[in-house]
Amino acid sequence: MKRVFAICMIAVVFSQCTQSHQNVSNLNKGNKNTAAIIAKATVNGLAILQKKQVPVLCYHHIENWKPKEKASLKLLLSPIKNFDDQIKSLADSGYQTITPDEYYAYLTTGAPLPPKPVMITFDDTNKDQYTYGLPELNKYHFKAVFFITTVPIDKRKYMSAEQLKEIADEGHVIAAHTFDHPDIARLKTAQDYENELLKPKQQLEAITGKPVDCFAYPYGIIDPKVYPLLERDGYKSAYQLVQFKRDTTYPLYTLRRIIVPGTWNGVTMQKWMKIAF
Ligand SMILES: [Zn+2]
Repeated sequence: MKRVFAICMIAVVFSQCTQSHQNVSNLNKGNKNTAAIIAKATVNGLAILQKKQVPVLCYHHIENWKPKEKASLKLLLSPIKNFDDQIKSLADSGYQTITPDEYYAYLTTGAPLPPKPVMITFDDTNKDQYTYGLPELNKYHFKAVFFITTVPIDKRKYMSAEQLKEIADEGHVIAAHTFDHPDIARLKTAQDYENELLKPKQQLEAITGKPVDCFAYPYGIIDPKVYPLLERDGYKSAYQLVQFKRDTTYPLYTLRRIIVPGTWNGVTMQKWMKIAF
């Protein structure tokens, strides 16, 4: 889905970015307590920002390359052999997967995590994640997070509602990734936000019978206007990619992930996990 744009985003994944998204005051105009609320949130935010981050990995396709696959697409397509090597290397090194709820509890209450925590996430509802990704994860009893764009559910090459329910029943996490994968910063109306934030959450909760309270921004693009809306709609956390700084007031809505290029083996991936987090 919209691979070209995604590839552009990868180009900046490891770059430094000076953008700051700390000003939410426009949303709170007229509120007498705004300064106090923001001050308190910032203090809490800083406490969260001081904690060591957990490496969060982001995958799109578990799919072998064509004979002359474009170099750019190799970043988004993880050949089965490389994916298996990456996951095996995590298991061999003693990594244990955690869920967004566990990460949230650690960040907000100091709840303990395993000694070597990692989060494995998949985006965009692609069926190859179910066909090739899940069996490899299950081999090591790893749990993953599936950020689901809802519009392609049940379509060819995408996961079905039945498969999403099965994944959730196995203890993996179904999370939201909008209705049709827009650049969230371009949304304007209340209806846009309802369609892209609230309705996908409700649809996925109806499919899985479980709360859906975690969100990933399409293309990793964040927008400070959206953080309070996500909070209002019942999302506890949201994930960008690594290119933007975390927001000091809403750090839980700017958690960071790295895309794992299909070219990496397990050793290279672990090296980047240490650098990026
Ligand atoms: Zn996506």
